[in-house]
Amino acid sequence: MSGKRNHFEPPYLYGGEIDTHFHATKLAERGLETEEVLTAAFGSGLRACIDVGLAEDDIETRHTLLDDYPGVYFAHGLYPSNAARSDLRDAMDTLRSSYDRQRVCAVGEIGVDRQRDYGTSDQQRRLFAEQIELANELRLPVIVHNREAERDILDVLASHAPRRESVMHCYSGPAEMVSRFLDFGFSISFGGNVTFKNAAALRQALDLVPIDRLLLETDAPFLAPHPRRGRPNYPGLIGYTYRAVAEHRQLNPSELIATVTSNAKRVFGLEL
Ligand SMILES: [Zn+2]
Repeated sequence: MSGKRNHFEPPYLYGGEIDTHFHATKLAERGLETEEVLTAAFGSGLRACIDVGLAEDDIETRHTLLDDYPGVYFAHGLYPSNAARSDLRDAMDTLRSSYDRQRVCAVGEIGVDRQRDYGTSDQQRRLFAEQIELANELRLPVIVHNREAERDILDVLASHAPRRESVMHCYSGPAEMVSRFLDFGFSISFGGNVTFKNAAALRQALDLVPIDRLLLETDAPFLAPHPRRGRPNYPGLIGYTYRAVAEHRQLNPSELIATVTSNAKRVFGLEL
């Protein structure tokens, strides 16, 4: 028990931070209780967070778990791992009916992952494209997962560009690709890995993002920021990432918080 308590001390928040990407249903798998971590995070000054879906069958569970937290927003989508399913039509129907729930602000997490065996590139690209079109119909932004798939992603975007300003989540692509995504109207979101000592290449990418196109996230329970690297992550730890990014970009933390908040409000239409 005492080891678990340690996760919450000290939650390094200035106050007012937004975590634009976490996965509530995965917290339990890493030994964290959603209610406990969210109460701690909001109690320490977290302003809002976006719980991002991975499949149509997590939607009910997540709303049941989180609807009572006014600071929690939702994205619903089919992660690339769904690409080879034989029941995709049913999954898309269920997904399509989920966007009139309260505080749903995006379609995600969608994209292409070439590191894992998630079905063929064609299957992944088709599912990605279809969900961009759904987002366009609904006038919502998309939250894009890209793992070693810049080429596939850019190919799909060329014929299925999001109409709303959208998000490259947990950016891990090459720095030279940042401008390509900016040109498609994306904001670029960085996770805890941007704080890692060996992440110089990622910080080069960070340098290329105009401040008004920058978002920050935990991707909790994964990728806890330095100095919590390797331990379970939760939205209250987003402060470490704000601190590291403010230092690196030589910004006043409160200026960074205000800017990321206004970016998140614009991109996701958050009513804060
Ligand atoms: Zn994610």
